[in-house]
Amino acid sequence: MVSRVIPVDPFDLVIFGATGDLARRKILPALYRRDLAGQLPDEARIIGTARAALDDDTWQGEIRHAILEHVPADRIESAALERFLARLGYVRLDATGEDGWQRLASLIRPGVVQAYYFSVGPGLFGDLARGLHRHGMNREGCRIVVEKPFGHDLGSARALNATLAAHFDEQQIYRIDHYLGKETVQNLMAVRFGNMLFEPLWNAQYVDHIQITVAEMVGVAGRGGYYDKSGAMRDMVQNHMMQLLCLIAMEPPYAFEPDAVRDEKLKVIRALDAVEPGDIVRGQYAAGNGQAGYAEDAAIPSSRTETFIALKAHVSNWRWKGTPFYLRTGKRLRARTSEIAITFKDPPHSIFGEQEGQKSNVLVIRLQPNEGIKLKVTIKEPGPGGMRLIEVPLDMSFAQALGPGAEDIADAYERLIMDVIRGNQTLFMRGDEVEAAWAWTDPVIAAWEARADRPKPYDPGSSGPEDALMLMHRDGRRWREIRP
Ligand code: NAP
Repeated sequence: MVSRVIPVDPFDLVIFGATGDLARRKILPALYRRDLAGQLPDEARIIGTARAALDDDTWQGEIRHAILEHVPADRIESAALERFLARLGYVRLDATGEDGWQRLASLIRPGVVQAYYFSVGPGLFGDLARGLHRHGMNREGCRIVVEKPFGHDLGSARALNATLAAHFDEQQIYRIDHYLGKETVQNLMAVRFGNMLFEPLWNAQYVDHIQITVAEMVGVAGRGGYYDKSGAMRDMVQNHMMQLLCLIAMEPPYAFEPDAVRDEKLKVIRALDAVEPGDIVRGQYAAGNGQAGYAEDAAIPSSRTETFIALKAHVSNWRWKGTPFYLRTGKRLRARTSEIAITFKDPPHSIFGEQEGQKSNVLVIRLQPNEGIKLKVTIKEPGPGGMRLIEVPLDMSFAQALGPGAEDIADAYERLIMDVIRGNQTLFMRGDEVEAAWAWTDPVIAAWEARADRPKPYDPGSSGPEDALMLMHRDGRRWREIRP
């Protein structure tokens, strides 16, 4: 199945931080792929900026390399690549000074969509907002795209929101959480609200518990300086996992429109109970299998930063009272996988008597790898041996179900950048949502910072520390296995 491509309006997209890792690895390859798919109109232009002294030609050359490195070879078409590179211009600019701003302002065309992507360290977001204002580029209808992390705690997120709000309306601010751009994450909403099948069962009466797992195999080597100030709670739970939890738990919005969806997500965050200290396990990967441990990777021997978190959260509202949400994320785990598993309650009475094969229904939504949805159901074991039950999966891999052309489905950055150009904020976080998420996260972090205990060490390639297993065992439940 080939997805339908509707070209966007002509635009000027300015990328601040154009020589950085994110721009080279994600943003520009994503734009190339959209161009290849025919979504960029002839008049679309991309202006890169950074302090490095480059001209248009050298930057185009760098981006040619970046695209050849980060886009699969079968997606490279030389005519399309040349057409894309011809759209790129470069302006040398210092976010903290005056260099380059006037030149940039002179290049922005009236009458096209104007978007400014802040792909620089968060310490520069305020400078960029002020710079755009000072040089008259915060025109009505323009958009700014703000990367993560959005603040370090509630106070800094509020301050950043206030700085941006001084120069831009909320409708102009696109706070990126790339998880929201993933195909399966949006499918979560399609599954819930586009079918009659699940929604009547989607509550504490029928759902026993929900597990959300985001597991990585990589450690932090090379990024230790950044990561050590963050840890898994700030890096993964406050943003990505919180967004997944919201999409699972929220009430049906009245329409798939930005504020309708975001209002419902905000209500979920506000309904979250404070996490009990006994309901959270922090871990840090140890050395093993010939690989360094976290302390060595981060070059901070005494670090108390967690690279793993498992916690139990409760959403206190009519729909979910009594159904726990178990969240787990970590680095250097057994496999790279992200999934949401909704485990339904057992039937109230088994007419087949006690049977090993009768298991709870589980709906598994896999975000990566191999995006898809699986429903585990109980059926009769085939054959004449009486009524014996077995569990089988109804398995739908999107790649298989959608057939040839599925590889053309846009990745998260492609979709999100096109949404910015189209002016659709549905998949971006609103300021109050981000603040509410920090308001829930801050006390958890403050509580363990006040204690002197260290995160529990865990073996690389494992499922995390033993205590995380106990978090579920003591509730009579088990984590799903982490496997590719
Ligand atoms: P990076 O590799 O360190 O790049 C930073 C960019 O900012 C460079 O182009 C740098 O170029 C430019 N820059 C630095 N100081 C500047 C100044 N005073 N004025 C103008 N430009 C300046 O960082 P990154 O990894 O691309 O990350 C960018 C943002 O995305 C960060 O907020 C990060 O948290 C977020 N993010 C990154 C990733 C990722 O995978 N990399 C993932 C999620 C979010 P010059 O030094 O030449 O000026």
